[in-house]
Amino acid sequence: MPENEKKTQYQKLEEKLHYSSKNIWSEVDDKAVKGIFDCGEKYKDFLTRAKSERLTVKWILENAKKKGYKDLYAAKEIKPGNTFFAVNRNKNIALIKIGKKDIKDGINFIVAHADAPRLDLKQIPLVEDTEIALLKTQYYGGIKKYQWLNIPLALVGVVVTKDNKTVEIEIGLNDGDPVFIIPDLLPHLSKKVQDQKKAAEFIEGETLNLVCGNIPVKDEKIKEKVKLAVLERLNKDYGIVEEDFISAELEAVPVMQPRDVGIDRSLIGGYAHDDRVSTFSAVMSIFDSKVGDKTQVTLIVDKEETGSDGPTGAKSLFIFNVVGTVIDKLSKNSTDSILRGTMQKSLCISADVNGAIHPMYKSVHDEINDAKLSHGIVLTKYTGHRGKYEANDADAEFVGKVRWLFNKNGIFWQYGSLGKVDEGGGGTIAKYFASYNASVIDCGVPVIGMHSPYELISKADLYFAYKGYKVFFEQA
Ligand code: MN
Ligand code: MN
Repeated sequence: MPENEKKTQYQKLEEKLHYSSKNIWSEVDDKAVKGIFDCGEKYKDFLTRAKSERLTVKWILENAKKKGYKDLYAAKEIKPGNTFFAVNRNKNIALIKIGKKDIKDGINFIVAHADAPRLDLKQIPLVEDTEIALLKTQYYGGIKKYQWLNIPLALVGVVVTKDNKTVEIEIGLNDGDPVFIIPDLLPHLSKKVQDQKKAAEFIEGETLNLVCGNIPVKDEKIKEKVKLAVLERLNKDYGIVEEDFISAELEAVPVMQPRDVGIDRSLIGGYAHDDRVSTFSAVMSIFDSKVGDKTQVTLIVDKEETGSDGPTGAKSLFIFNVVGTVIDKLSKNSTDSILRGTMQKSLCISADVNGAIHPMYKSVHDEINDAKLSHGIVLTKYTGHRGKYEANDADAEFVGKVRWLFNKNGIFWQYGSLGKVDEGGGGTIAKYFASYNASVIDCGVPVIGMHSPYELISKADLYFAYKGYKVFFEQA
């Protein structure tokens, strides 16, 4: 800084007194702006394909293979610089980049989840009412039910047939495909049934049925003619019968593809930023990171939105088996205590979105502590609810380390919390990973309209999430 612009004593004092995050767009040069927009384009391509946790894992696996990642379980020998993948039930994947130092010194983990709120088909879903065929659903994750009415929905997932064959289903994602709709009630007749009820209650779970057909079979004797016609079509196109739904995982997800939002194209609207934006950033950052001293692992988990249970969730032993396998193949004499010691020395970013201040609902936010769009990746020391219940409360030392790393490397970051005290709350996978005695902090992109079918993020925040995760991998 030139002599005449030297900061006054008072300005220096102010800097010490105040924390203030900065709007990235006002700070960066043209080159960085180009980086931000290019990253946004890549992310939209990814999000267009990654409509479910299975499709997300498929995308990651395809791209990891293109980058030379090999199947961990098939590897005979492991050396620093080698890269591997390990897939769990097509819904959970780990990417591994072996570091130069002894793995027993700990691993740098970035963990994100690929599941997102949606409507799952019930196991016996198909019914007919008023000569309309309907698919009954059970919502997954925390949704506001009214947001899922009157929007085009696609059906994605798998059906396992009576011959034990897996059929992949994808209806509604391609141009020209039919879509599915849950129609709302017309305002002319909703006065008693909806309008006078509380917002949380006016749409009942059992009314979330997808319209899926209206043409009957031409057979006078059959009662449910439209339902039968739908089943005939499904059998013709996919070779499935009604009972096959029992062994199926079919999800109704919003069809709308990600789009730039705003005259300035600063934002991206899209389904499932929570948490495919963290998934994308965690995957791209390990793809692009240099081989570090420490081993790097991106872990993409499932079932975060419903409490991280089950074999593909963050509570599963999958990651222990992955790390155990790596240690086995590196040293040929791994023991349980080496594995536990490795986890204990590990550092982990729980890559997860946080709620950004909503200009129309500022009353629920603590404007000093909550995050803002375009102010960078959000460090969240603790989540939880009420008196910090069910929170991973990151150590000051670890928060300090990540903050120091980000500052040193020009990563735009900000602090974030989850609204005013007692306003609500929530959790992430952080507490489950912390139970392995690793140091864990929540760190991700701020979102407006979280858990809606079309959420909003800033391209600038996405870019610095990717950059920040890369710094963490290489230098933490
Ligand atoms: Mn999330
Ligand atoms: Mn969520």
